[in-house]
Amino acid sequence: MLDKVLIANRGEIALRILRACKELGIKTVAVHSKADRELMHVRLADEAVCIGPASSAQSYLNIPSLISAAEVTDASAIHPGYGFLSENADFAEQVERSGFTFIGPRAETIRLMGDKVSAIEAMKKAGVPTVPGSDGPLGDDEGELLATARRIGYPVIIKAAAGGGGRGMRVVHTEAHLISAVTVTRTEAHSAFGDGTVYMEKFLEKPRHVEVQVLADGQGNTIHLYDRDCSLQRRHQKVLEEAPAPGLDPDARAKVLEACREACVEIGYRGAGTFEFLYEDGEFFFIEMNTRVQVEHPVTEMVTGVDIVREQLRIASGLPLSIRQEDVELNGHAFECRINAEDPRTFMPSPGKVTLYHPPGGLGVRMDSHLYTGYTVPPHYDSLIGKLITWGADRETSLTRMRNALDELLVEGIKTNTDLHKDLVRDGYFQQGGVNIHYLEKKLAQ
Ligand code: ADP
Repeated sequence: MLDKVLIANRGEIALRILRACKELGIKTVAVHSKADRELMHVRLADEAVCIGPASSAQSYLNIPSLISAAEVTDASAIHPGYGFLSENADFAEQVERSGFTFIGPRAETIRLMGDKVSAIEAMKKAGVPTVPGSDGPLGDDEGELLATARRIGYPVIIKAAAGGGGRGMRVVHTEAHLISAVTVTRTEAHSAFGDGTVYMEKFLEKPRHVEVQVLADGQGNTIHLYDRDCSLQRRHQKVLEEAPAPGLDPDARAKVLEACREACVEIGYRGAGTFEFLYEDGEFFFIEMNTRVQVEHPVTEMVTGVDIVREQLRIASGLPLSIRQEDVELNGHAFECRINAEDPRTFMPSPGKVTLYHPPGGLGVRMDSHLYTGYTVPPHYDSLIGKLITWGADRETSLTRMRNALDELLVEGIKTNTDLHKDLVRDGYFQQGGVNIHYLEKKLAQ
């Protein structure tokens, strides 16, 4: 087992990783910016190192600073969490080159999947169903662009190969707007991601977002942990997730789960990963793979009993997965509400001092949060302050528990989106299961 892990992240996921390390007897190093001295996991870690000023660019994204923190603390491995440097192949490479273990896939895998065009190509080869599209990057020839869009059929979506976080996408409904949309998306992609490569896909009108969790130990054992539904999104950002995804076509589902597993074997995948799909009319269409632990991983943990972060740590230690596919059993249903420090109506961030924090409890209720009464949410980072997760033997029980848990949750001093969640878990369509990715925005518009 790894001896000492440096946690290159902050907030709830840093605490989640710290807890998993502690369970396995692994020593922990917390790194933090000057604005984050008061973080919960910084207090609980065996050692803590300040890696720079508040700005992420100078701290959590500062590779030399992170590597020297690992050197001075004699850490054996670095866990990147999600966001920040978690899908940065150069970081993974530099970590390994400096003699540390990167807790994640090989740098070349991150690079392959980080470019959506090469990811889609690799998935096609491996037999994973993809969205009808341009089959590669778009060129400059206007005639060709128009022909490609005509072949795919409008509406189409222009996407940045290096895009992420819901940025770098543009929907085109008519031929008249195609060329300018490609040009603008290319320019934006270039300035936002340093890579102007764009590609084209059919824009699906009413899909659901369904994703598949996988784990691979790089020693021959690769498993899937079933699916999650993350269709409730605002501006392409997930708000509320559940596992398993309700009401999927059983045959299509069985096929796609197996295809993901086979694709992992094909590309020599190692670690935890997620295949993201759009699901429409009983069909799955791959859109991208995330080569890291995801925010919504707990819903899968609740219904499979598999501790995903623990498995990541085991894999990085060179140990085999602790479970085989035939032993993975789906049990019950789980929901996760992302609790953000933001105004529930305007969605403006709401940093500040938490004057009272009271997490909910009871059977089947899990709160992954770094909050405590007196903690000040800094204005510099993502507004996620916690994840409320419930489990129940069936979907209805789990949802009832979520309703009650949201009513119990108290966060005072700052604004949170708890009221939005309270509304969502009482929404008739959501209660039936299977709403599409536009549902939340339509509801908000009303
Ligand atoms: P990112 O890496 O920025 O998250 P994704 O490719 O995963 O980008 O897409 C994010 C979201 O954008 C999806 O969950 C979906 O809501 C929407 N989207 C992406 N591609 C399509 C498409 N072809 N048709 C319809 N919606 C899409």
